[in-house]
Amino acid sequence: MKKNIILMGPPGAGKGTLAKQLKDALHLVHISTGDMFRDAIKAQTELGKLAQSYIDHGDLVPDEVTIGLVKERLSQKDCEAGFLLDGFPRTLPQAEALSEIAKSISREIDVVVNLDCDVDELVRRISGRRVCKNCGAPYHVITMKPKVEGVCDLCGGPLYQRKDDNEDALKVRLTHYEEETKPLLDYYQKLGLLASFNSLVGKENLFDEVSSFLKK
Ligand code: ADP
Ligand code: ZN
Repeated sequence: MKKNIILMGPPGAGKGTLAKQLKDALHLVHISTGDMFRDAIKAQTELGKLAQSYIDHGDLVPDEVTIGLVKERLSQKDCEAGFLLDGFPRTLPQAEALSEIAKSISREIDVVVNLDCDVDELVRRISGRRVCKNCGAPYHVITMKPKVEGVCDLCGGPLYQRKDDNEDALKVRLTHYEEETKPLLDYYQKLGLLASFNSLVGKENLFDEVSSFLKK
């Protein structure tokens, strides 16, 4: 089984949704840099204050900050069971730092799961996205409605729209993806680690495909 996993794909491709399904099914630790930053913003820590304006505008948080955060998290004991990196690496320096970190904790990246999705669909998904303030579970106003409007099915928390899920910030995020993150697909392809999946098949089918692939 492949258990040290990177999830890649543009914003809205479904990394967070898939990560939550896989983490429960395969007992892996879910490491989402976006969630970590949003938690830090909520708690108004130094990290949160630093990250906030970058995130709100759709820009990337500086590499040295993000790399430090991931390094600390990956060194924790629970990650020995296997980890799902969601939203990291996003730049070449982050990818290079990750190989160093992996070496230093004697663990290897087993696979990079890449989710393909076309731009029109990304825009549609992100503009209708709602997220639980409490547990981070994702919803969509048309395609993934909660049972009770505005309330999380899983924990009863309130749903909200992320500040960076607006047209302007999304344009910036997609540009960062094209320019800085997409080249990593080549990088991981050359290392023989890349496995791509079409995220348009629906979340249950995608989960079935990816989880049976990871179990091999
Ligand atoms: P999405 O994949 O929908 O864009 P995330 O929740 O993964 O959203 O990330 C939200 C924001 O957090 C990003 O737009 C960026 O500002 C910041 N962020 C998350 N991960 C990274 C990273 N690896 N490097 C730099 N910034 C990051
Ligand atoms: Zn919730």
